[in-house]
Amino acid sequence: MFNFLKKKLKTVVDKFSKQAELELEKEVRKQLAKETIKKKTEEKKKPTAQDLEDEKKADEAVGEMTKDIKVVRDNKDMQHLDSAMEEIRKELKQKETELQKSEKDKRKGGIISRVTTAFKTEEGVIGKLRGIVTTTTISEKRFDELFEEMEIVLLENNVALEVIDKIKDDLKNAIVNTPVPRGKVQKAVTNSLRESIEGLFQVAGIDLVASARGKKPYVILFAGINGSGKTTTIAKLAKLYKDNGMECVIAAADTFRAAAIQQIQLHAKKIGVPVIKHDYGADPAAVAYDAVSYAKAKNIDVVLIDTAGRQHSNKNLIAELAKIARVTNPDLKIFVGESITGNDCTNQAAEFNNAIGVDGIILAKADVDEKGGAAISVSYVTKKPIIYLGTGQDYADLTPFNPELVVKSLGLAA
Ligand code: GDP
Repeated sequence: MFNFLKKKLKTVVDKFSKQAELELEKEVRKQLAKETIKKKTEEKKKPTAQDLEDEKKADEAVGEMTKDIKVVRDNKDMQHLDSAMEEIRKELKQKETELQKSEKDKRKGGIISRVTTAFKTEEGVIGKLRGIVTTTTISEKRFDELFEEMEIVLLENNVALEVIDKIKDDLKNAIVNTPVPRGKVQKAVTNSLRESIEGLFQVAGIDLVASARGKKPYVILFAGINGSGKTTTIAKLAKLYKDNGMECVIAAADTFRAAAIQQIQLHAKKIGVPVIKHDYGADPAAVAYDAVSYAKAKNIDVVLIDTAGRQHSNKNLIAELAKIARVTNPDLKIFVGESITGNDCTNQAAEFNNAIGVDGIILAKADVDEKGGAAISVSYVTKKPIIYLGTGQDYADLTPFNPELVVKSLGLAA
């Protein structure tokens, strides 16, 4: 089941992840290079603490000298020049000693503060680099380009457009809007696909056996196009109810094809359930009505109404289906679709739902469906649950649906 899509998906996920990983690597390198250039430019511009200190010292010394020379110039009494010079020298010497002492102290502090600053800067740089490595994501533009191939694979496998959009949005959220550590992209992609697909089935399921125990007779109307597997599915369900100790009656309301009446009779005989039939060409609503009356009279648990296959576009036949529904007031209307027809099946389900209001879906022939597009899409598009998958031609080949089944079949299970 869904093997073709599984293989294709694996190939495309591998490729996508590798490319996304490379893209991430490129992006991180780009950011790191930018950061290094920025840091170097800042370093070039910035004078060191020592530079500033030397500059200050030079300014102070120049100031002192200027003051002293002024004192000498102002002293008109040249006799005192020598002693004045001596005083100046002494003063300068003292200042120099003081300066050296204060400089020593400053240096000590200076060294500590320089080490602290350098340490802080280094820490900041490491933090920043770590930040770049752990927060860089690929650009949305590159993501869109990379996703194209995955989109084609999904389209080729009949996944509905709105479902592809959801998968794309979820994936974008997982690897563009959320940083993914390098080397972990493939895991992130697989997880996102799995969660995205699981999220396609948010509608409540229906337990056909439990529901039928709640009301007598429980009436189910089956609709779908010709050859989709309605009759076989009805036979499988009749067997399921019998196995659960419940009595059924089948309404042979496909009166368009004489062979259809014979076919359902054949199944019913094998399973051991009664069939209500009229002649070929009779009003199907009347057949269905009679089957419900029969069930009421005979205390039968479940009425299964087989109807003729019809295209949703055939207004007369859809009106006829609506009439059957009006007359029998079914507890459930089930669309039986052919899994292998992919998008057609999804569209038909949506159209039938619009026309008569479908409660649930059974996808027949899932066992021979290599793509799985209908199983992935139909519930999301119609907002109705898939109840069972038909998985073979035997009566027991009816598999209760759950999203895990799809996820597993696609090789995406956790
Ligand atoms: P209807 O015209 O909708 O009533 O379709 P039928 O019940 O007559 O089914 C058409 C063909 O599909 C028959 O040959 C069935 O045996 C086959 N079929 C029905 N359901 C399944 C299924 O789940 N798997 C497979 N492989 N074949 C199925």
